Amino acid sequence: MSTTHSTPMLILGSGPAGLSAAIYGARAGMKPILVQGIQPGGQLMTTTDVENYPGFADVIQGPWLMEQMQKQAEHVGTTLMYDTIVEVDLSKRPFRLTGDSGDVYEGQVLVIATGAQAKWLGLDSEEAMKGKGVSACATCDGFFYRGKKVAVIGGGNTAVEEALYLTNHSPDVTLIHRRDELRAEKILQERLFKNERISVLWNKTIERFVGGGEPEGLVALELRDTETGEVSTLEVEGGFVAIGHHPATELFRGHLELDDDSYIKVETGSTRTSVPGVFACGDVMDKVYRQAVTAAGTGCMAALDAERFLAEAEFENIVEAAE
Ligand code: FAD
Ligand code: NAP
Repeated sequence: MSTTHSTPMLILGSGPAGLSAAIYGARAGMKPILVQGIQPGGQLMTTTDVENYPGFADVIQGPWLMEQMQKQAEHVGTTLMYDTIVEVDLSKRPFRLTGDSGDVYEGQVLVIATGAQAKWLGLDSEEAMKGKGVSACATCDGFFYRGKKVAVIGGGNTAVEEALYLTNHSPDVTLIHRRDELRAEKILQERLFKNERISVLWNKTIERFVGGGEPEGLVALELRDTETGEVSTLEVEGGFVAIGHHPATELFRGHLELDDDSYIKVETGSTRTSVPGVFACGDVMDKVYRQAVTAAGTGCMAALDAERFLAEAEFENIVEAAE
């Protein structure tokens, strides 16, 4: 039998964005219900060392950080639900969402924090070497490759920015692209070509991520030339796949305005979406920064925006009732 759960503040997603929104929302008395989705804790559950989340002098573990955030959200009054939203109705308030379990969730305001997932090449060797030299986040993991040879795969803005960022740590960065022309903005390309620490390999695809050593780590990339078919080897200890991200927004297509890359559109400087009372935070609306701390920051913004929205809605109701 399905149950209906009603709350002033409904949150989707239990990564840093959703949980930060929950902490602020609960402390503002909005009694949040947070639906966690298929990855409780979000992307940081899939990593080990986190060194750039402020507040911890020693290295912390991603899953531990998320467990702390979950406990903190619960301690201040958030109800966490193990369910995944499969249907939304944003046509009127309260917004009405249906979970995989059949349960219905009603919220006077909705905070969407469903995140994004990196795209991968889909090779078996890539899967095997994830966390052992293969990563999709240079800002997160670049520091672990200080002084080592690394490669970035991709030709868009993300790949170029990651290659430039990696030169802070590595003297030898190779950008590998499948065509002979980059998709990245010209200004980024200029910076890339000027940087003496970066070389570019054109018309190459990855055949295999090669592991070795004890403990096992990435030692090389096997490449195939797209024009000649020739196979070659590039020795590197870090391989950063930067071929784009998928924001988790399919559910909202047709209900909310999305940009050309399917990220939820928000008003500049706020978390307000195209539907009043619906707010978006974290990686689902941010294709530039994509960090735990920025996700948490926009989660806080979403809760503050939601609180103001409810206060204004209540004020309007009082004025209407008085007229
Ligand atoms: P996410 O963490 O992606 O969480 C999304 C949440 O939405 C999940 O709980 C999911 O279950 C839920 N969800 C999705 N669809 C639905 C649905 N239909 N219904 C209900 N819930 C749903 N950042 C750093 O700052 N430092 C690091 O060291 C770092 N390392 C990283 C290492 C790896 C391997 C990866 C993949 C990322 C790393 N990042 C790091 C990036 C960081 O994890 C993300 O920027 C951050 O997690 C984004 O938070 P978020 O809350 O927006 O979304
Ligand atoms: P993107 O623009 O879609 O570029 C992806 C790149 O990866 C392309 O060069 C593509 O090659 C390559 N690629 C895709 N699939 C591949 C595969 N299977 N094998 C090998 N290569 C593959 O993605 P993005 O760079 O992440 O950027 C996404 C959006 O965010 C863009 O709108 C971008 O402008 C924006 N962004 C902006 C900033 C900024 O403003 N500073 C920073 C980052 C991202 P092809 O070129 O051959 O298709």
